[in-house]
Amino acid sequence: MPNLSRRSFGALVGAGATSLALPYYARAQGKPKAVVIGGGAGGATAARYMAKDAGEDLDVTLIEANPAYTTCFFSNLYLGGFRTFESITHSYDTLASNYGITVVNGMADAVDRDAKMVVMADGSKVPYDRLIIAPGIDLIYDSVPGYSEDAAEIMPHSWKAGPQTQLLKAKLDAIENGQQIVMVTPPNPYRCPPGPYERVSMMAHILKEKGFNDSKITIIDPKPKFSKQALFQEGWEKHYPGMIEWYGPDVHGGIVKVDPSTGEVETDFDTFKGDLVNVIPAQKAGMIAAKTALTNESGFCPIDPKSMRSQADANIFVIGDASIAGDMPKSGFSANSQAKVAAMAIRGDLTGSKVFPAKYSNTCWSLIETNDGVKVGAQYAPSPEKIASTSKFISQTGEDAAMRQATYEESVGWYKGITTDIFGA
Ligand SMILES: Cc1cc2nc3c(=O)[nH]c(=O)nc-3n(C[C@H](O)[C@H](O)[C@H](O)COP(=O)(O)OP(=O)(O)OC[C@H]3O[C@@H](n4cnc5c(N)ncnc54)[C@H](O)[C@@H]3O)c2cc1C
Repeated sequence: MPNLSRRSFGALVGAGATSLALPYYARAQGKPKAVVIGGGAGGATAARYMAKDAGEDLDVTLIEANPAYTTCFFSNLYLGGFRTFESITHSYDTLASNYGITVVNGMADAVDRDAKMVVMADGSKVPYDRLIIAPGIDLIYDSVPGYSEDAAEIMPHSWKAGPQTQLLKAKLDAIENGQQIVMVTPPNPYRCPPGPYERVSMMAHILKEKGFNDSKITIIDPKPKFSKQALFQEGWEKHYPGMIEWYGPDVHGGIVKVDPSTGEVETDFDTFKGDLVNVIPAQKAGMIAAKTALTNESGFCPIDPKSMRSQADANIFVIGDASIAGDMPKSGFSANSQAKVAAMAIRGDLTGSKVFPAKYSNTCWSLIETNDGVKVGAQYAPSPEKIASTSKFISQTGEDAAMRQATYEESVGWYKGITTDIFGA
């Protein structure tokens, strides 16, 4: 029977012993149980790393609502025609067959923190010793007056990849010359800060490819500035002159409402009418996080920067978009990086294996036009208050074509590497 070391026991006590039941070896008959809710960039990585590194010492279960996962990352490239939908959709089969992970296909409806049980929507229960919650985001539909889940069938958000992404692609492909596209972007914090602006670039790429010079894309932004702004605006000027207008709040004065029946976006200053309207509302942690009482007033989950352990429950870790990860943006790269830290901490808790100091990293690439890629990224380490950035980099305006092509090719390599790291090869 593995030992829980003095060091890791101390860590557990420090993390809030009052909420902890006895260590696993004092009560469990079988192997300790690590359960993950959410098989996305964060959750699937964590499950794979725990199963891979703990081998026979840990029983790993992954609970996921959907039978397959479509990545939001590179979904913009699918819109732009650079990727097929199949190439951004991944199965859980390898995690089950090669790593011995029990994949439960269903919706986790609640967590009984006292009994340490995940309660599934069908009423079945999944017991855990340590739980990772990685549900990604939920959309706050009414943050944009007039918008709703039903309205998203007409004005797709496409901020969760899958049918919504295919709907937006179908609407984009149906645009005719002279028709207008309007995008309402979200307030901070939201998943993938450069994502809306990469999406606009990919939409413009399609319009340009078809020679639709009379069509325009208008961005109504609730933020006064956005990620990689100088890089995007330089790229839009170069590749799509006159095609893209960006309005910050000092110009439009505020978003009053959207009307799915007319395609109108009303602001304090003016009303914009789109033949295609893409509304990306405000966001919060996926439902299960709030239902488990792990969120604060921001709608996201405070964590210990050293481990991703929830500040509300020492037996639970929150990773990815649902967490408050300090300086880290909400990205697939971040979620994958945080997953490895949480997986190591859980192995330490449950098997006594060594826990090394946490390090995190992120890079977000964006494609502006064919072979014109830009990136922004950073390294991070835990500080007493938060996950803090320790060094940063960003592409520069005016870079030559060879550098931009290399940056794009780097992103293609990254996609292959990260999806293998998440779902196994
Ligand atoms: C258009 C767009 C472009 C993007 N581009 C990039 C990029 O280039 N690079 C990058 O790094 N990031 C990018 N991102 C961001 C990235 O997709 C997210 O940050 C990342 O997916 C977050 O990972 P996660 O594990 O927290 O959540 P997700 O990947 O969303 O996974 C959550 C999973 O949990 C499941 N789930 C939720 N609740 C439950 C429940 N109760 N029971 C069972 N299952 C549940 C969901 O079905 C889902 O599969 C992009 C996002 C968008 C929208």
